[in-house]
Amino acid sequence: EPLLTDHVAVITGAASGNGRAIARRFAAEGADVVVADLQKEPREGGEPTHEVLEAETDARATFVECDVTSVSDLENAVEAAEEFGGVTVMVNNAGIFHGEEFLEVDEEAFDRMMDINVKGVYFGAQAAAKRMVEGDGGSIINLASVAGLEGSGEFVTYCGTKGAVRLLTYSMAGRLGPDGIRVNAIHPGLIETTMTTDDYAIIGTDAEAGFLESIPARRAGQPDDVADAAVYLASDLADYVNGESLVVDGGMSNT
Ligand code: NAD
Repeated sequence: EPLLTDHVAVITGAASGNGRAIARRFAAEGADVVVADLQKEPREGGEPTHEVLEAETDARATFVECDVTSVSDLENAVEAAEEFGGVTVMVNNAGIFHGEEFLEVDEEAFDRMMDINVKGVYFGAQAAAKRMVEGDGGSIINLASVAGLEGSGEFVTYCGTKGAVRLLTYSMAGRLGPDGIRVNAIHPGLIETTMTTDDYAIIGTDAEAGFLESIPARRAGQPDDVADAAVYLASDLADYVNGESLVVDGGMSNT
């Protein structure tokens, strides 16, 4: 029995990487999917996500151009889900990373990361929750990071944004739980996407082997590892799970 029959998901940043894997797993489990992204093309290459879903599964899928820093774009993405019956699962996945040196970060770079990683999550959740309270509730999943569990002098701004996602998640869970809406966070470790091959180039570099020593699984995670966690949190299997951080890091952070 598919786990997400009759569900309608809006997934931000689903053109590429983790969001694309989540979209594919959701569609395979029977959900219809709105892909909301700045661009249709995957950063890593390949066919647009919504086209892959339609070709591989029976799910309905559509693409909506959406910049998560724009509240009206997020509202449009939620509105687009009406075509499939209305949003029941919101995945606030869009996020950016850039390596930084604390003393050199300028105001523009700071604002951009805060706007995408924090404001985008807040208003994505708000737009979805407004619709979910009119329906049968739903599930909101926010992409945090192991960088939202503990600080790092190497990525000060990124850790700040992901720490904010963690406490926004817990706080929204408290506010929305009585309305039948669960809000949880996924905290991935090192996952192989363009974020970790290009933006924070570790995979495929000389530094990779040393980094893997810190991961008990001795491998980088794949976007499907994150997608499996998202399926669980979206589904009825997690019906009593609210305000939780699900860490998907091959054992890196607790060991
Ligand atoms: P990615 O760069 O592969 O994909 C990100 C997607 O988000 C792209 O399709 C991009 O176009 C889209 N996007 C960027 N800015 C946007 C905006 N303003 N509006 C709408 N869409 C936008 O990255 P990824 O690795 O798949 O990351 C997805 C999420 O997972 C992020 O929140 C990231 O912080 C988190 N994460 C990733 C890792 C990792 O190791 N890859 C680890 C922890 C957390």
